[in-house]
Amino acid sequence: DAATLLTAPRVRALAEQLQLRPTKQWGQNFVIDPNTVRKIVRLAGIGPDESVVEIGPGLGSLTLPLLEAAAHVTAVEIDPRLATQLPLTVADLALQLTDRLAVVQQDAMTLMTLPDPQPVALVANLPYNVAVPVVLSFLERFPTLRRVLVMVQLEVAERLAAAPGNKVYGVPSVKAGWYADVRLADRVGRNVFWPAPNVDSGLVSMTFREPPSTTASRKDVFACVDAAFAARRKTLRAALAGWAGSPVEAERMLRAAGVDPSLRGERLTIGQFAAIAEQRIG
Ligand code: SAM
Repeated sequence: DAATLLTAPRVRALAEQLQLRPTKQWGQNFVIDPNTVRKIVRLAGIGPDESVVEIGPGLGSLTLPLLEAAAHVTAVEIDPRLATQLPLTVADLALQLTDRLAVVQQDAMTLMTLPDPQPVALVANLPYNVAVPVVLSFLERFPTLRRVLVMVQLEVAERLAAAPGNKVYGVPSVKAGWYADVRLADRVGRNVFWPAPNVDSGLVSMTFREPPSTTASRKDVFACVDAAFAARRKTLRAALAGWAGSPVEAERMLRAAGVDPSLRGERLTIGQFAAIAEQRIG
């Protein structure tokens, strides 16, 4: 299967041929373990008619099996050397899959449109320093997405999947929860990468559902979330004072939303944040 096409020696040979010294800045740690790649593709649950977007295809370890599983893959890669090489690698190793691939050489953070067919799934081994903002911006910009399966630093995976009250529950957990049910699907050791990073990884699975039913816009709700967590140790009454206009107004809005003003943001669900944000409109 396509998961075995880019083994460790091939990855190293390709990197050498491209004179590529993997950079930290772009989080270039390439997967060299077929089982990890298979697991990612399986957990992503891709159907043969589906269109997938991959962020940071790198040398193609994950792209090849994605092409095998899906109808179409759009691969967004910031590094011009890798973006140029990817179609050549696919043609070389799996010629029959080339017409399913579109490569976009761009920074995923600034990407506003994707070529058709629009993706239903985002699958990626993400560059770790931009993982959370990249995922959140894709959720916001590409509303055809129904599922996400990403490999990120374990600590970030735990944060994304955390439930209210958990000590790592924070802005990423709440915002991801606007779109989807998020869970930590598995843990992955650092030795599946070349070069090996100095942290372990986690696989995060997101399944989309309706956003909380509210008259407030997502933007208003997210502004409330940002305010609540900007002062993590403060009570909501204090943390939301600036956002609401005054402590008195914050207290009124919290009570109207049925939320105890002496709580901290780390205890609230996305639905409760939406209920608070609604009060500002009224
Ligand atoms: N998917 C490959 C794999 O699993 O072997 C590579 C994963 S590596 C962790 C991250 C990849 O994302 C690198 O190829 C890197 O060049 C690319 N990358 C980093 N920052 C990016 C950005 N802002 N937009 C698009 N790609 C980016």
